[in-house]
Amino acid sequence: MKKKLLLRLIITHLLALFVFKVGVSATALYFFVFFFVVRSLGLTVSYHRYFSHRSFKTSRFFQLILALWGGLSAQRGPLWWAAKHRTHHRYSDKDGDPHSPHQDSFWKAHIGWALSADSMKTDYSMVKDFKKYPELMFFNKYHDLFMLSFAGALYLFGEVINHYRPELGTSGAQLLVWIYIINTLAHVHLTFCVNSIGHLFGKKPFSEHACEDEDKSGNIAWLALLTAGEGWHHNHHTFPYSAKIGIRWFEFDLGHVVICVLESLGIIWNVKRPKLKVDVELPQTMALSSLEDI
Ligand SMILES: [Zn+2]
Ligand SMILES: [Zn+2]
Repeated sequence: MKKKLLLRLIITHLLALFVFKVGVSATALYFFVFFFVVRSLGLTVSYHRYFSHRSFKTSRFFQLILALWGGLSAQRGPLWWAAKHRTHHRYSDKDGDPHSPHQDSFWKAHIGWALSADSMKTDYSMVKDFKKYPELMFFNKYHDLFMLSFAGALYLFGEVINHYRPELGTSGAQLLVWIYIINTLAHVHLTFCVNSIGHLFGKKPFSEHACEDEDKSGNIAWLALLTAGEGWHHNHHTFPYSAKIGIRWFEFDLGHVVICVLESLGIIWNVKRPKLKVDVELPQTMALSSLEDI
């Protein structure tokens, strides 16, 4: 374990205690919810469905926008994230999986893997398809600077509001704590939950379609609601190429809703969706009409 990384993680959690000093306001909570949704979508639509799985195609310009969008969540650069995640799928729950609760302890699968000595290196051999774009290589390398700029912008924005609308009761420090620290930690732990409890619990309605040998992922509804669809993790491991993760009619998938909007606007195209035979046995709760678009 790298002490520097552990120390950084502990300090980040301790910084959240500043919430008792900066307090809370409706404005801070409004921005918290706004960034919670925007960052959830950045992670799932951009880092996961696009950069890791290439579930749809887009222009080079919007590809860069996607990188910045996903990068807002402070989970390192898109090539680092995609390389780690592709490794996870290649060895899902087998030896070589960077974060499997079936290969290592729960602690290692949840958070410990991110603290190992080589955890922060990008394995470029896993992302050869994106390595050819200098703008992505640059962003991947200097992602920390992007986050520092984001923190600075948040602080300035809070101070400007405080100056012109003091009655709103917010400040630069308050926005920094609520968005840059607490909101970031919430996303980090939700992503970690997908890796850890998402491979320990949950239902497996499509197990007969499984394409990854040892994969033990499950669907967890509350996790899906908090992660814009990521919690339907069994669906995802069964159809990893698919931009649509919530498959049955009741599996709400906000990420796919946004993908449909972007597709209808012509910003993205060639969107991949699950190939599922209609004659396959499905739970009674599945409406047949929902099969038409999958
Ligand atoms: Zn997984
Ligand atoms: Zn994946």
